[in-house]
Amino acid sequence: MMPLRPLDELDDLEDIELPKPLSLRRVCSTKACRGTARPGGRHCLACHARAVRRYRDRHAQQLTTSRRDGAALRDEATRAADSARAKLAMALRRGTMRRGLCQICGTTDVMGIIEEPQRWRDAVWVCREHRDVQLERRREDAAQHTANAKQTAWYDERTRVLAAIELLPPEERARLEALAERGPAGMRLSPGAPLYVMNLVRAYKAWCPLRDARPWRPRGVPDSIRTIENLVVLTRDS
Ligand SMILES: [Zn+2]
Ligand SMILES: [Zn+2]
Repeated sequence: MMPLRPLDELDDLEDIELPKPLSLRRVCSTKACRGTARPGGRHCLACHARAVRRYRDRHAQQLTTSRRDGAALRDEATRAADSARAKLAMALRRGTMRRGLCQICGTTDVMGIIEEPQRWRDAVWVCREHRDVQLERRREDAAQHTANAKQTAWYDERTRVLAAIELLPPEERARLEALAERGPAGMRLSPGAPLYVMNLVRAYKAWCPLRDARPWRPRGVPDSIRTIENLVVLTRDS
């Protein structure tokens, strides 16, 4: 323990030497390098780059293999997007295509956004700043598109299933309708309630073994309903 100075000697605070301010600069940990360490890293930019290069050289084969494996495992959509991006890059390099101006602010420092891989020539050009705006817009469009498609699919299915139910013998239809009436918390749903219709469709789909059974078509069914193919009363023997 350091011996303490008697307090009465400190009548003047100016006697006390102020500590040196801490250095905010971190030095590269490579021996003999006085460079500034990268934020969050131990080495300076140059030493870091050299280390990365050395690692890549030493593991070149491994890296190539894993890159190739990764490329082989891509799904269809990723593959198409990658190929579109490569084609666009090649066209720019060959000069058969030119970058446009940012769609929003008109600056020349732009990057391309490919909306559809097949139509990579119609890439949308945006600056870095407006890229996020553009991507957000695209996400919203895609979400809307998915929602619409779901809605349409549901209407189609509903139409088909309700038509099929119409053709059922009364006792089977009554059984499905009894199931459809069951609402949440013991509530009884009335026909025409949206949830009733959803239940009815769900009950029919659960009941109707679509794949395994032989198609059976009652006589006199219009062609539009025949295309419902296997939907109609598959469990019965014809
Ligand atoms: Zn260094
Ligand atoms: Zn812009």
